[in-house]
Amino acid sequence: MGEEETGEEYLFKIVVIGDSAVGKSNLLSRFSRDEFDHNSKATIGVEFQTQMVEIDGKEVKAQVWDTAGQERFRAVTSAYYRGAVGALVVYDISRRTTFENVKRWLDELNTHCDTTVARMLVGNKCDLENIREVSVEDGKSLAEEEGLFFIETSALDSTNVYKAFEIVIREIFNNIS
Ligand code: GDP
Ligand code: MG
Repeated sequence: MGEEETGEEYLFKIVVIGDSAVGKSNLLSRFSRDEFDHNSKATIGVEFQTQMVEIDGKEVKAQVWDTAGQERFRAVTSAYYRGAVGALVVYDISRRTTFENVKRWLDELNTHCDTTVARMLVGNKCDLENIREVSVEDGKSLAEEEGLFFIETSALDSTNVYKAFEIVIREIFNNIS
């Protein structure tokens, strides 16, 4: 139900999950508006943003959902996950605990979505190399273990943000065709 084909247009629902302050909202604003917010507080009320992406001549409307602060209370509802065909599981490379919590987020995802959801492990804030607490290797091996794609991003300097979404969208196409 997550994807609809209306003529040449596809609609893919993608959820962004992970601990508080890993940069989920900024990844989303970088992707959809090319904006970064240095003082972002928990977003209240914004459910999702849409961004058109062209993949191999096909128009895709990526509807990307943001937890809007619910992650603090571990209270992300099933409505949030409903119909999702892609997921970005985000941690902060400068905070080890956010990486250790990835497994819990994957468990959450697995209870709400079936295994065909395209999953990407995202190590955000790769601009913070000097205070890195999670190596690239650790990210890669967790991704391999769990069968996820892996990428490091920076919402601050734009590194790989578009690419992360693009890879997920391509995988969604693979899953439906
Ligand atoms: P969320 O709680 O996961 O939605 O995280 P936010 O997007 O609100 O970001 C939390 C904090 O991290 C904010 O102060 C952001 O400015 C900062 N931040 C987000 N992405 C990056 C990044 O790629 N690099 C750096 N250095 N800071 C970031
Ligand atoms: Mg947020």
